[in-house]
Amino acid sequence: MKITAIREKTVSLASGLRNAGIAYDAMTASAVVVEADGGALRGLGFDSVGRYGHGALLRERFVPRLRDAAPGALLDGDGLIDPAAAWRAMMANEKPGGHGERAGAVGVLDMALWDLRARQRGEPAWRTIAGYFGCEGAPTVAVYGTGGHYGADAADTGPLCASLAEARGRGFRTFKIKIGGAPLETDLARVEAALEIAGPGALALDTNGVWDPETAAGWLAALADYDLAWIEEPVSPLDYAGLADIAGRFPVPIGTGENLFSFDDARNLQRHGGLRPDRDLLQFDISLSYGLPEYVRMVDCFTAKGWSPRRFAPHAGHVLALHTVAALGLGMAEVALDAALPIGGLPGGAVVEDGRVTLPDAPGFGIEEMPALHACFAGLLA
Ligand SMILES: [Mg+2]
Repeated sequence: MKITAIREKTVSLASGLRNAGIAYDAMTASAVVVEADGGALRGLGFDSVGRYGHGALLRERFVPRLRDAAPGALLDGDGLIDPAAAWRAMMANEKPGGHGERAGAVGVLDMALWDLRARQRGEPAWRTIAGYFGCEGAPTVAVYGTGGHYGADAADTGPLCASLAEARGRGFRTFKIKIGGAPLETDLARVEAALEIAGPGALALDTNGVWDPETAAGWLAALADYDLAWIEEPVSPLDYAGLADIAGRFPVPIGTGENLFSFDDARNLQRHGGLRPDRDLLQFDISLSYGLPEYVRMVDCFTAKGWSPRRFAPHAGHVLALHTVAALGLGMAEVALDAALPIGGLPGGAVVEDGRVTLPDAPGFGIEEMPALHACFAGLLA
C-alpha cells in the first residue's frame, strides 16, 4: 500500500450560534482525504470544532512530510498503514513545547489515517483503535447531548426548552448548555428551565473559560443550590492555580481540558489543576491534540495517577471521539444535538437508547453515513 494523494480543503462552519467566549459566524474547519494505491483505498479526516481550519500548516509542513516519506516507513508488518509511524514522520523536525495550532493539523491527518487503516481491515474504526492499543473496546457507549447555545434573545427560554425536550424524547438522558454569556439572572432562568426538562443531576453548564477565579466563585455560589452534572471550564483553560482554587472551594464536578492540546499540558493539569478523580471530567479534544497517539499518552498520564478511564469525556460531538470512547472504554461521548451541523448527529442512523448509543458496523468512522459531514468532503473524493 502506498499513499498516492492527500487532498485538503477549508470548510465553512459558519452559524448564528455563540457561547460565552466566541461567535461562530466565521468558523471554519479542515477536511482531508488520504488516498492510497491510486484511489483504491482512502481515509477521511475532519477537524474538531472551535479552532478554525489548518490549511496552511497542512500544505506547508504536514502533508509534504507524509507524502514524501518512504512508503515502507508508514506501514506495519502486515502492510497496513501504521498511524503511529505516520505520526513520527509528520512530527520530524518539530521542536518540543509551544504546541498551538500544529496539534490540530496533525490531528486531522491522524484521523484520516485511522479511517484508512480501519477500511483496510474492513471493520469499524473503534475496533481498529481498540486492537491497536491493546484494549477490548465495545460498540455501545454512553453519550450526552450538547446544545443550548445563545440565540438571538438569550432571555427567551423557549427554543432552549424545545431543543432539550426533543432530545429527551430521542433518548438522551444527560445534557449540556452554555452559560456565562448573559447576565446572571438571565442565565439562572435558563438553568432552571433546562433543569425542569433534564432532571436532577443531568444538566451540565459550559462557561467556555471566560471567567477569572473571582468571577467564577461568584457564579458558582449563585449556582450552589442546583443539582448539576458538572460545570465546564469555569476559569481560563491554562489557569491551573485558579482551577485548583475553585475545585477546592466548590463540590460541584468540574469538566475541563478541551483547550489543552498536548501531553505536556495534560500533565500540567494533572499536577497543578487540583482536579478530583472521584468526580471531575477530562475533556481533551482528540483531533485538536495531535490525534490518537498523543491522546492515549494524555489518558495514560492520568490513569497512572489512579484516575479511571471513565472520567474521560472527549470534547465535541465528533465521530472520532465517539469511536475512541468505544475503543478505549472511556466514560462518555458528546453529541451535538443539532444534526444539521457538520459534526452533529450520529453515524449510520444510530439511535440513542436511554442515554447510550451502539455504533454501526460500517468500516472506518462511517462518515459516508453522516450526510452533513460527508457533504464537507465534496470535491475531495475524485
Ligand atoms: Mg466546552
